[in-house]
Amino acid sequence: MTIYNFSAGPAVLPKPVLEKAQSEFLDYRGSGMSVMELSHRSSLFDDIIKKAEALLRELMGIPDNYKVLFLQGGASLQFSMVPLNLAQGKKALYANTGSWSKKAISAAKALENVEVEVIASSEADNFTYIPTITEDMIDQEAAYLHITTNNTIVGTAYQSIPKAGKVPIVADMSSNILANDYKVEDFGIIYAGAQKNIGPAGLTVVIIRDDLIGLCPVAEPMLDYKIQADNDSLYNTPPTFAIYIAKLVFEWLQEKGGVPGILKEDQEKAGLLYEAIANSALFKSPVREDSRSITNIPFVTGDAELDKKFNAEALAAGFQNLKGHRSVGGMRASLYNAFPKQGVRDLIAFMEAFEKENGGA
Ligand code: PMP
Repeated sequence: MTIYNFSAGPAVLPKPVLEKAQSEFLDYRGSGMSVMELSHRSSLFDDIIKKAEALLRELMGIPDNYKVLFLQGGASLQFSMVPLNLAQGKKALYANTGSWSKKAISAAKALENVEVEVIASSEADNFTYIPTITEDMIDQEAAYLHITTNNTIVGTAYQSIPKAGKVPIVADMSSNILANDYKVEDFGIIYAGAQKNIGPAGLTVVIIRDDLIGLCPVAEPMLDYKIQADNDSLYNTPPTFAIYIAKLVFEWLQEKGGVPGILKEDQEKAGLLYEAIANSALFKSPVREDSRSITNIPFVTGDAELDKKFNAEALAAGFQNLKGHRSVGGMRASLYNAFPKQGVRDLIAFMEAFEKENGGA
């Protein structure tokens, strides 16, 4: 049985990447050691981390005045590091577009010397759309405006990045980094947990404009962007194997035509599924049309029992991890870069067969 992994993260990785890692697993480039066994100060690992950074810079068009950091602690640690490094004694602005934004907001609120203002929210409508943010809503004295570019759980995404004047935009891009042709210059900081479009869990990528480094005193060295940047992400032992896999993913992406190439594929995959949902009398998208993500696509029948039946039958047919997040129910197809188009076609055929059997009720 073919298995398709629709997980929201950790998520499907490109098969050629896994095969390459397998072929190099026991003996990396004639060293007689696995990448996992290499010192993070060795020239072999130095080459891996430098290539990973160079490839990411090329893929995303990261300008020279931005640092790329390979950190740990997940995107969730950035919820705290961002306000700690940028907003002590200042005000920080947030858009509340889902569970992850809410967690980012709580982490900032937990800091006594940071004033948090939520300037836009779709919480009253179960986060089913992205609220409009206009420049006049932005206090130009604020340390930053934090947005979540793609909301993994509810399946919404910004269709354009808000204009914030001179206030830097900090983006949690965990679930659509490298799946959109964003301009890095539109952001002050971009951060993402790796376990969706980059590689295995355990690595967090932070892309930060130079002038935003070293703004506030941070007592804990591991949480200080300046210390991490001054040490080229090697202040302590970085997640070496995850960085190695990320490098392989970046190479794979380059072969796919970089971000424009993969974006075209992602749009096709999402287009097929949204079209199937639109043509169905049974399945619906809970998300407003102007706010839909091409990465995480939730759908429901409107009947919790029928959703449960669908999920059980889908699982038995090899469609793994389709169940919607526990906070919203229904189904969710996460179609990250490495997810194969055939998997979307097969899912649609399965949905059509299910709809026939269940009377389109
Ligand atoms: N932000 C978003 C948008 C996410 O989807 C996730 C994880 N699913 C997180 C933050 C949290 O990431 P981590 O588990 O790496 O802390």
